[in-house]
Amino acid sequence: MRRPIIAGNWKMQKTVRESVDFARQLMIAYAAESPDRRVIVAPPFTSIYAVAEVLMGSGIHLAAQNLHDKQAGAFTGEISAAMLVDAGCEYVIVGHSERRTLFGERDDVINRKLRAAISFDLRPIFCIGETLEEREAGRTFTVVERQIKEGLNNFAADDIKPIVIAYEPVWAIGTGRTATAEQAQEVHAYIRTVMGRAYGDTLAGLLNVIYGGSVNPGNIGGLMAQPDIDGALVGGASLDVESFVRIIQY
Ligand code: PEP
Repeated sequence: MRRPIIAGNWKMQKTVRESVDFARQLMIAYAAESPDRRVIVAPPFTSIYAVAEVLMGSGIHLAAQNLHDKQAGAFTGEISAAMLVDAGCEYVIVGHSERRTLFGERDDVINRKLRAAISFDLRPIFCIGETLEEREAGRTFTVVERQIKEGLNNFAADDIKPIVIAYEPVWAIGTGRTATAEQAQEVHAYIRTVMGRAYGDTLAGLLNVIYGGSVNPGNIGGLMAQPDIDGALVGGASLDVESFVRIIQY
């Protein structure tokens, strides 16, 4: 039985004060509702520690949006897995399409970041997804399969267990243009097949594969009704407590 995950990615938004206020309000709403699902928020680095203090004992989990693959050293501007754990994170988003397209992160870099995360017991939310051009060229399955294989290169079954896969079609992120529930389901089922071939159907059946791309309170229900969609990674609609809580309560 896969427990649904609803994760909010705040990107480069919210000051420390705004983050703390949001966390306090969310805690009140969440305490009353939906204890059967896992709720995660991913604030910017500057807010992580303050939000961790507020959320302590609340059952709401904390993610970072990125990490560096090295443990420590002369990497100006970077943050390590150990630092994220120390600040209170349990999860980290790896390979978000904005990291891939705006910051040039390739599959080999993502592979090293995933390795760094699991070495420190930080659960990766591993993002994959095709561009519009790739979808229109009929290459969606090929692209997500390559991203999975290269991202998880040299990963054993035990390494896979903590990973959450987020299927995020790039054309649906921040565009208001969401994949239909059927389009998303088709790719989620394929992702599970690819994982099953590599790691066995039992493990693939336990993996959380969540969807991201313009998820909102109006479309979450249809997405979550699909058999292989186990939750959502939410950008824009996670910035407002009311809309995020409506998504949590789909
Ligand atoms: C995201 O950033 O992961 C995302 C899915 O954003 P949005 O919900 O705004 O499309």
